[in-house]
Amino acid sequence: MATASNRGVIFQGAGKVTVETIDFPKLALGDRRCDHGVILKILTTNICGSDQHMVRGRTTAPQGLVLGHEITGQVIECGRDVEFICVGDVVSVPFNIACGRCRNCKEGKTGICLNVNPSRPGAAYGYVDMGGWVGGQAEYVMVPYADFNLLKFPDREQAMEKITDLTLLSDIFPTGFHGCVTAGVGPGSIVYIAGAGPVGLAAAASARLLGRPASLSAT
Ligand SMILES: [Zn+2]
Ligand SMILES: [Zn+2]
Repeated sequence: MATASNRGVIFQGAGKVTVETIDFPKLALGDRRCDHGVILKILTTNICGSDQHMVRGRTTAPQGLVLGHEITGQVIECGRDVEFICVGDVVSVPFNIACGRCRNCKEGKTGICLNVNPSRPGAAYGYVDMGGWVGGQAEYVMVPYADFNLLKFPDREQAMEKITDLTLLSDIFPTGFHGCVTAGVGPGSIVYIAGAGPVGLAAAASARLLGRPASLSAT
């Protein structure tokens, strides 16, 4: 199908990244077939605070790593085993890669999926020691287990109008929301958030959402 070229943000060593031509994604990770995956044309992507751990040389990230785990895109190709996602869908990609079928995924602990990283539970795109998946600070990327991983926006035109807000859904917003949920935030809570970076601001917005009485939260 598509034979377009691809470019991505490459980690070159401490303090240095470059934009380079990279391989167009395949429905595979090395020898591992990913017929359950899709190829996305990326619409938006973000630089995460945690990318800086690699870029500043604090990790063992290898030279040549394609960075980026915060991905929003449009589906341009579906693998043979994808049932519920279609070419043309606009989707948000959760940064944690998850199979949807292991014990941890079934318990909702998709951050520690057992099937996506041979070294340890849990994986992410474009991240050191997180399974070798190619990152999405690029023009195109492959997303495995598409039926389980992808959040499809139901209205394409509406999504495109707000796409630079919806880009928060891949990591920043749910990270703040998850912090509030795990802290037990609910109506009546008084919440202290240490740090007002993007995730802190998302946590503050989440606390307001979670603080609404249940009778209002459906609206
Ligand atoms: Zn991130
Ligand atoms: Zn899993």
